[in-house]
Amino acid sequence: MRIALERSNRAANAARLIAVSKGHPVSVIEAAYAVGQRDFGENYAQELAQKAAALSHLSDLHWHMIGHLQTNKVRQIAASLQCLHTVDSEKLVSELDKRLRRIRSEVPLRVLLEVNLGEETQKSGVSPDGIDNLVRACNASSMVVLVGLMTIPPQTDDPNEARHYFRRLLQLRDAHGGASALPELSMGMTQDFEEAIAEGATLVRVGTAIFGPRPSKPASLA
Ligand SMILES: *Cc1c(COP(=O)(O)O)cnc(C)c1O
Repeated sequence: MRIALERSNRAANAARLIAVSKGHPVSVIEAAYAVGQRDFGENYAQELAQKAAALSHLSDLHWHMIGHLQTNKVRQIAASLQCLHTVDSEKLVSELDKRLRRIRSEVPLRVLLEVNLGEETQKSGVSPDGIDNLVRACNASSMVVLVGLMTIPPQTDDPNEARHYFRRLLQLRDAHGGASALPELSMGMTQDFEEAIAEGATLVRVGTAIFGPRPSKPASLA
């Protein structure tokens, strides 16, 4: 990551690594924590909630929800979450507003809008046309703080193809207030994080390159 930042002439602290620990046991998270990793990403609310409970003694460990969040799961994770990358509907924003008010008293949650750039119907995320409405909904809530945009490009074996989508996300950010309004760009995974960093990613979500392949069966949480 450091090398990718240098190559792009970006500062060493311009992007933050989120270690995606889904499917791995908490022992693996503890090992990464022991060598200094603090930001972890999970895809499933229940798994995140269980891991957060098991590791609640690590008070400076930051949980990022990077999977689609159903409104009925907000309550499970609202207290432990540092950042939610996948806001994609006004309904979710209003549920967050309501639940967070109760659970987190006055501490707002940092959120990003997940943008579906490939217009893939099977994928979650708001279409580029829907961004304006969601920005307004977030700004109307005192319990969410909108900090940026996130995307998962369509599946491809060619990281250069992903670049096109990363560039598109940057353009959309510029069309919606620029870096001062939306400082964070969450993009890039094991396959394409170097390309994402070259295109301006500030949060990269890397699992396999850090932890190896995910166990095919759900990991025991012990
Ligand atoms: C699983 C996942 C990742 C990490 O994927 P790797 O290819 O293992 O790096 C990143 N982002 C999201 C949204 C994911 O679901």
